[in-house]
Amino acid sequence: MVQEHVRHGPLDLYLRKHHGAVTTGWKLTVAKQLAYALNYLEDKKIPHGNVSAKKVLLAREGDTAGGSPPFIKLNDPGVSVTVLARDMLVERIPWVAPECVSDPGSLALPADKWGFGATLWEIFSGGKMPLSLLEPQRKLEFYQSHQQLPAPKWPELATLVAQCMEYEPQRRPCFRALIRDLNSLITSDYELLSDLSPTDVTLRDGFWGHDSLAMSQDPELFQERHLKYISLLGKGNFGSVELCRYDPLGDSTGELVAVKKLQQDSAKEIRDFEREIQILHSLQHDFIVQYRGVCYSRGMRGLRLVMEFLPNGCLRDYLQKNQPRLEHCTLLLYAWQICKGMEYLGAQRCVHRDLASRNILVESDSHVKIGDFGLAKLLPQDKDYYVVREPGQSPVFWYAPESLADNIFSCASDTWSFGVLLYELFTYSSKSKSPSEEFLRMMGTGKPAQIICHLLELLKDNRRLPAPAGCPAEVYALMMSCWAFAPSARPTFGQLAPKIEALRDGRSKTRG
Ligand code: ADP
Ligand code: MG
Repeated sequence: MVQEHVRHGPLDLYLRKHHGAVTTGWKLTVAKQLAYALNYLEDKKIPHGNVSAKKVLLAREGDTAGGSPPFIKLNDPGVSVTVLARDMLVERIPWVAPECVSDPGSLALPADKWGFGATLWEIFSGGKMPLSLLEPQRKLEFYQSHQQLPAPKWPELATLVAQCMEYEPQRRPCFRALIRDLNSLITSDYELLSDLSPTDVTLRDGFWGHDSLAMSQDPELFQERHLKYISLLGKGNFGSVELCRYDPLGDSTGELVAVKKLQQDSAKEIRDFEREIQILHSLQHDFIVQYRGVCYSRGMRGLRLVMEFLPNGCLRDYLQKNQPRLEHCTLLLYAWQICKGMEYLGAQRCVHRDLASRNILVESDSHVKIGDFGLAKLLPQDKDYYVVREPGQSPVFWYAPESLADNIFSCASDTWSFGVLLYELFTYSSKSKSPSEEFLRMMGTGKPAQIICHLLELLKDNRRLPAPAGCPAEVYALMMSCWAFAPSARPTFGQLAPKIEALRDGRSKTRG
């Protein structure tokens, strides 16, 4: 569909960007124009169904001093409410009329009055709508318990909003009456009242509490439409990670973030993903990638995880690229940092299950962070899942024997994987020496479906990855200790850290 280009874009973004500069008179003018547009639709008996500041486009900014008013146009509603999936309807709370959430087919003229009430609220709060960022379930509860948006300070405006947002559709006034009421509002009363503060609506500490209100400053919940895709950072076994700019002002000044989404989104996986995110939010450590928040798009189906962006990417690629300048003591520094991060994870009763260089991220030359943890819990329990699809990249070569045989994962199986990660460090993640390549070589040619059995046999025979070329004997001894067949015989991360530190001290001394 080709549409006219409306110069200043959607009203909500404009309000947020210019919140200090926009006067109450300006907002009132915009509100009246919107009421006129909706009155026209009401006369024609055409319900719009998607009234919100986002759907109002600003054609002219206007100039208060010069006396020229702003000029807005109501945009088309997009896909009709009547055919929208339920999670997308829920996403539109509080703009969508409650009757449309329970029965989308019931879309009629009164729905636009509700939407207009919500939009009035939005316009006068400077484009903020905290409720819109709540989790879907909490939004639904808001409607189910017939809650109201907090009343604006301006009593006359509060009355208008309340009339529009009546839960009983028939009690909402017609637009002609709304225009009359808007015309009777005297802005000077309000300017005095609100002391010209940009956000002139007081929010009660009620329904959504402080946390969600703080969002505009430090968002834990990111809005999908402000996440601007830049590039694909990586595709792993469970999800894909994209580099995006979170740009709520729409002017490319927002920060870069890494956004992860699941490749599959069955109900169970979404539930698991959600639970994981809860855990990840509570983790704070120098050597663990920082989780910034979540983004709900299309309800839970499009749940995404937003985290800090590490421009140097994953350790596997980094090692390959920078081999010549990475000395052993740097490799040991990385190993120590990962070990400390794992020690912390273990203390939080969290098992990583997918520790490998592809899941370690590089912050700088001297700082790495553990990423992609917890997601491994979403693994389908049948082990063939990886083997059949992509044997070369399969994490099975990082798995401890008990994980291969019985799907048992613990801190001790993480230690095993850490040993493999040490091996990767000292081979600089060379493709030809990768754990997969080495093990496949040891096995000879086997059918992919039998890989796990073969691997297990091999490990039972006490065969292990070879010492990487040039790897110090003490370091290889450390790897081997991580690969003890019995989980209880492996060192803990708490025991490994000082050993690695001692080796590192030794390295830097011999060098010096
Ligand atoms: P998966 O669960 O799909 O394996 P990962 O979290 O391992 O997902 O991410 C896949 C790849 O995306 C990583 O190997 C890395 O290259 C890249 N990546 C992930 N997170 C970030 C980040 N925060 N910053 C930069 N790159 C990242
Ligand atoms: Mg990964």
